[in-house]
Amino acid sequence: PEDAEACSRGNPRPSNPKTPKPASKQRQSSWREERTRSLEDNEMSLPSLAAAYSTILRGLGEDPHRQGLLKTPWRAATAMQFFTKGYQEKIVDVLNDAIFDEDHDEMVIVKDIDMFSMCEHHLVPIFGRVHIGYLPNKRVLGLSKLARIVEIYSRRLQVQERLTKQIAVAITEALQPSGVGVVVEATHMCMVMRGVQKMNSKTVTSTMLGVFREDPKTRDEFLTLIRT
Ligand SMILES: [Zn+2]
Repeated sequence: PEDAEACSRGNPRPSNPKTPKPASKQRQSSWREERTRSLEDNEMSLPSLAAAYSTILRGLGEDPHRQGLLKTPWRAATAMQFFTKGYQEKIVDVLNDAIFDEDHDEMVIVKDIDMFSMCEHHLVPIFGRVHIGYLPNKRVLGLSKLARIVEIYSRRLQVQERLTKQIAVAITEALQPSGVGVVVEATHMCMVMRGVQKMNSKTVTSTMLGVFREDPKTRDEFLTLIRT
């Protein structure tokens, strides 16, 4: 079936940092030309989203008019807008006033950033942790901003591979560092709940750019530091 195919890409497989895969052929649109969803858009689309959830309830064999479900379409619509609020934000706004000139040339690492996203194939949660490292080249980013970048990209409909790459590319474009490494460990509810994936297994993806890709010592230092 098509959906099993789609999510087999999320099957647990160890990332092998020694053989980085060639960059995806898929066109990667830059955050610089991003269009966002406004709060007005949210307000305007709420009634039709709620109506769509009523249809879903009926389609599932439920009665949208029974008491427990009366407000469910509106709640679900509002919740879905929240789960995808990354469309309301732009990376460029996060970067404003957060990039500093600094002669720091040691690796910067922020690990265990909580991540909550939505699988774009099944519209159910993906959640896990993100570890980010970069080797600055005269410019650094406020540390809390790395978590904000994760938040903006994860609160959208995603596949884990793209999420991982988008975070790495955004940091690269913003800071032009010597290198960036991003590792995402996540559980996909679409896999766990359908029994495709065991409860405690995780999908690991990584993107290594610059010296993280070219220099095994730098990459190993990063991978060691995020595991301790
Ligand atoms: Zn899925």
